[in-house]
Amino acid sequence: MTTRVTLYPWLLAAVAKAWEDGASDVATAHALGLSPSSVTQVRRHLGLPPARPKPVTERPGVKARRCLMCTRSFTSLGAGNRVCGNCKQTRLWQAGVAF
Ligand SMILES: [Zn+2]
Repeated sequence: MTTRVTLYPWLLAAVAKAWEDGASDVATAHALGLSPSSVTQVRRHLGLPPARPKPVTERPGVKARRCLMCTRSFTSLGAGNRVCGNCKQTRLWQAGVAF
C-alpha cells in the first residue's frame, strides 16, 4: 500500500529545489524527514525526471589548476588540492619532501 503524500506548497518547492541541486529522492527524503516514495510522488507530480547528480566539475571549488610539481593542468577538488594524482604517486610526495 502506498501512502498518498499531501502536496503542500512548501514541499513542492523543497523537492523542486533539491532536484535542481542534483539530490536523489533518497537524499531529499532524508533531508526533509520523509520516505523516499513520498519524494518520488512529489517529484512526479512536478513532472520531473529522476535527478541527475551534477558532474564533479560543477561543484563549488572544483576547477582546473596547475600541479605544483609537474605544472600540468588537472581537475583540482579544492583550493588546497594543488598536486595532481600522478605526482601524489611519487616517492618524493609520499615522503613529504615536496610541498
Ligand atoms: Zn603533477
